[in-house]
Formats: sequence, C-alpha cells, structure tokens
Amino acid sequence: MTVLALAVPVLAQKATIYDEPLSERRVAYTLNVTLDPEARTVRGTERIAWRNPDDVPVDSLQFHLYLNAFKNNESTFMRESGGMHRGFSAEEENRWGGVIIESMKVTTGDQPTLSTTYRTDDADLTDRIVYLHPDDDNLDDQTVAAVPLPRPVEPGETIFLDVEFESTLPRIVARTGWGEKSDGTRFFMVAQWFPKLGVYEVPGQRYVPEDAPRGQWNTHQFHENSEFYADFGTFDVTIDVPEEYVVGASGVRVSETTDGGMKRLVYRAEDVHDFAWTASPAFLEYTDTWRHVNLRLLLQPEHDGQAQRHFDAVKIALERFDEWVGEYPYTSLTLVDGLGGSNGMEYPTLITCGTAYLLPDWMRSLEIVTIHEFGHQYFYGLLASNEFEEAWLDEGMNSYVETRIMDTHYSPGSAISLPGLRLDDGPGQRTFYAKSTPSRGALFTRSWEYEVDADYGKASYMKPATVMRTLEHYLGWETMRRFLRTYYDRWRFRHPTTRDLQDVAEDVSGEDLDWFFDQFVYGTAVVDYAVEALEVEAVEGSERYKSEVRLERREDGIFPQTLRVRFEDGSTEERAWEGEAASETFTFDKPTPAVEAYLDPDNAVWLDVNRLNNRRALDASNVFARKQQFKVVVWAQQLFYLIGSLF
Ligand SMILES: [Zn+2]
Repeated sequence: MTVLALAVPVLAQKATIYDEPLSERRVAYTLNVTLDPEARTVRGTERIAWRNPDDVPVDSLQFHLYLNAFKNNESTFMRESGGMHRGFSAEEENRWGGVIIESMKVTTGDQPTLSTTYRTDDADLTDRIVYLHPDDDNLDDQTVAAVPLPRPVEPGETIFLDVEFESTLPRIVARTGWGEKSDGTRFFMVAQWFPKLGVYEVPGQRYVPEDAPRGQWNTHQFHENSEFYADFGTFDVTIDVPEEYVVGASGVRVSETTDGGMKRLVYRAEDVHDFAWTASPAFLEYTDTWRHVNLRLLLQPEHDGQAQRHFDAVKIALERFDEWVGEYPYTSLTLVDGLGGSNGMEYPTLITCGTAYLLPDWMRSLEIVTIHEFGHQYFYGLLASNEFEEAWLDEGMNSYVETRIMDTHYSPGSAISLPGLRLDDGPGQRTFYAKSTPSRGALFTRSWEYEVDADYGKASYMKPATVMRTLEHYLGWETMRRFLRTYYDRWRFRHPTTRDLQDVAEDVSGEDLDWFFDQFVYGTAVVDYAVEALEVEAVEGSERYKSEVRLERREDGIFPQTLRVRFEDGSTEERAWEGEAASETFTFDKPTPAVEAYLDPDNAVWLDVNRLNNRRALDASNVFARKQQFKVVVWAQQLFYLIGSLF
C-alpha cells in the first residue's frame, strides 16, 4: 500500500491518507467540536454516515453513549463497580459526566444526488431516541440508545445523520475524563466521548451464543469490566481548544491554525474504529520516526528525561509486531503520558502509557505498559474483536505477545531486574494465574458475566498469556508465528471471534485443537501433574536396580507429559505420557539406580499450576533451594498485581 506524505497543512479536509481503503468502511464520522476547559465540556456537531451492509432492510440504528456510564450512581457501570473504578471516587467534586444528544436529524449531506442516499420527509429523529438495556434490564442505564427510523435503510443504502451533542467529561475514570495537576494545570483525555454507532452484524458474522440467523445490532451497555466494539470507517475531526493547549489525537493532523486565542486542529483518521484525543497546556512534545510511522510523544514535564525510554520501547514493539504478526499500516502513532487513571489505554493510533517520577531502570513497568498498549493497535485496533463478549481475544492475545516481546528483549529480569531478584514478564503472569483460583474464569466469557469480578482480569490477561505460551511450546514457535501472521492476514479489519482464531490455529498446525480450546479457552480445566513417588530397590541376586516412578494427574486438565529420569551414573531416559489416566507408573530396570524423576523438565506446560510437585529426587539436598525460589515468586506476584492494575 502506498502512503501519501503526511501532515501537509494544504491537504483539504477530505484528503485521503491511503490510496485504497484498507477496510470496508461501513461508517464515516465528521465531528466539529470545541473544548471548554472550565465547563469540562466538549460540544459540537457530528455527521454520521452508515451504510447498510445486510441484504435485508434495517429499521433502526443503535448507538453507544458511553459517557452516560458516569452520569450518576445508577448506571450499570457504577452499580457493578460500587462507585469505584481504579481510583475514581464518586465523592469528588465535578466528578460526573455524560453525553446529551440535543438533536438528531436525517440529512442528505453532501450527496443529495446519490440514489443510494437514505431520504425521508420525517427527518427529525430527536424525539424517537430511546434507551436500551439489553444486558441487565437496568432502566436507569443510558449507555445504549436506539433510534427507530421513519422507514428502514435499504440494503446498500447510506443514511446520513446530523447530530448536535454536548459531552461533559467526568473526573478521570475508566481511561477518560479530566484531571488536574497540583499546579492547577488541566488535562483532558477525551475518549468514548461522542454518540457512536454500535456494530450491525450481518448473518454469519457472529456466533454468540449461536450462529445468528439474521443480521442484528451488537450494542452492549458499558460495564465495569467491558471495553469496546465498533466498525471501521473514517473520521474527520475538527477540534477547537484554547491556544495554549497541546493536543494529541488519533489519525493524522491535517492542519493547525490559531485565531483570537483559540487553536483549531483538523485531523483525519482512516480505517479505524474510534477516535480519541487529549489536550493539556502542560505536555512536552517529542517526535521521532520508525520507518513510515511518525511517532509523537506528549510527556508530563516531571517525566522529562524519559522520552527515550518511551521511544525505545515502542520501536521494539513496532519491530517485533512487524516481524511476528504483520505490518503496522498506519502512518502515525501518538504516545500520551496522561494523568492517573487515564494511563495504560489504547485508542486507534494513540496510546496512553504511564510512568512515575524517577522510575528506576530496573523497574520495567514503563516498557511493559508501552509495549502492551502498542500491541493493542493490532488486537484491538486492526483485528477489532468484540471486547464485550470476547475480551481475551484482545487483552489476552496482546498479553501473550507483550510478554514474549519483553522476555525476548529484556530477559533475564524483563519485568524487574535487581541483583538477586530477576522477574520475567511472562513467568510473572503465569504465577499470577497459578496462584489465583485457577478453576474459575474461562477465557471465553462475556466480560460482565464472570461470577467473581476479579476473574475478568485473570481470564483476560494473565491466563491467556499462559495458555498461549503453552500452545506455543506445544506447536513450536515457527508454527505459532505462522498462526499469528495468518490470523492477522486473514482477519484484520474483520472482527474475528474465538472460533475464527481456533480455525487459523488448526489450519496452520494441521491439528485438531478442540482438546486444547475446550479445556483452556472455553473451559476452566486445571493442569497439575506430579511425581507422586520415586522408589528404588536393588534386584536380589543381580547387579541391577528396579526404579519405579509413580505419576499422578491431580486435576481435571489433560496435557501430554514428558518424564525425564536421571540415574546415578549420569544417564537419563525420557518417557512420554499422554496424561489421561489419573495415574501411571514407569519402571526402569538398569544397572544403575534412578536418582531423580522430573515431569515436564523443559518447562513447556506453563499451565501446570504447581511445578513444585513435578520433581522428586532421592537426594533431597537441592529441594530447599527451590522452595526459597518459590517464595520469591510469590512475593513478585504481589508486585505484578500492582503492575497489572496499570493496564
Ligand atoms: Zn490492554
């Protein structure tokens, strides 16, 4: 794909970035808005274009009004979170937000002559707007709106709406809102901020809970634990802010002009499914490039000196994703060092990172969060699975690649690197999973339906990272890499599901992987194999020894095992065990006695929740050392819990 030169102010607003659309572009948004920092509002107009992709008429439109999650204590988000979400306190002043649709009208926009444009005499839809509560019947929740149309949108027809709206930003919560520095400087993370269409899914596009026989809107309420889902298209966004504000946004900046104390910025983003921006007078701005990508970093002044760490980390991520998954097709990427709860979040071509004053080099949380959020450009941005229903496809696949990049680049000690304490990212997440209640929380679960709230995090991040690392060891890295690349090639811009991902894994490996996915993705099977006993006796009347190794499967999960036995003369033997029976005994009759039996000696089965019982030695001298090491891991797990709360 040829990419035109960027950020040339003379480009008209409708200029295209790419010669050919990268995605199907079912939607187009044109927004003209003004930020009022005092009132904490963003208000303006929005033109929405939506093309009916189905071969039957569609008689209503559905919208997300995410900011209404922060309207009061009665929203589903607030009820589920008990009024608290990652530091947001409902007690603070000016905490509430929300979005008001002042008017919504059908228009023929710029294309009055096109026969495929939706027309009606009954153009004002404002009074038709109703709220839906598809997930929990909470009548007080206003995060999903529907608009029954005067007549259906015919197949292939495009409807244009002109919307006037006002968004009030909440005190930073769930990665959006306003914040204030100690010197009074304002910061705005303007995200999930405008009335936004849900995804209309054509038959066959979804299968949750089973194959949908008809096309339908997929528009869930905003939950404490849910993220987002939207269709690909274009965004033309004009933003007015006070002149002293530094702005970062999704897409490419087309122009910047100032007039009468105000600054007008025009952005265009193509083939993305959301648009977010940030504004603050405090930002320090840094730029860099990586191949075709213009990198821009907006840093809090107190973190000056850490710019290079951000750029280094994101370039490692760009490099590895390009090599392992596929091309980063966009020409821009903005990194934002926001305030508090706005950090550690992904939006198309814009990520919020997060660091701390005087963050030491040995603490690689900055690198982890930067690489993690960049990875979302693939799993959240380009693949764009339904995060409400299958969060693991984004967070989990991304955590897998993130840990692999960290461990490839920075090990040993990819997460924490101190003399005497080195902790790697992947093993840290694995420990977190193993020490949780591993029998709870399947990866494939709607994000608001976890029985225990905390299981969402484990099942969306740490466990899938562990599941995928186990799959990698089982298939081999080269097959795993082909799987990642094929998944990306086949499904980018198309909202893949868990089933689609499994299909790719099976195609690429040539193996039926039902046994794996049923246990560890759809189910909650727990893997724990143990060497139950190692017994040796001299065979009477000979110079030989009978060594007996008894293995046990202690949980319901089944995973093929390798047993390695070491003998006194230094020789070793390996046995394969399919691991299905509850127990198995291997006997060795040799002129030398066994001294050690080790299950999974190459540490391939990361899903094994207890590795301390994987080994038995007749000489117990080094068991103590291993136990000490384990204690360090438990301590490190607490640290990971802290880091994890950043994402
Ligand atoms: Zn994430």
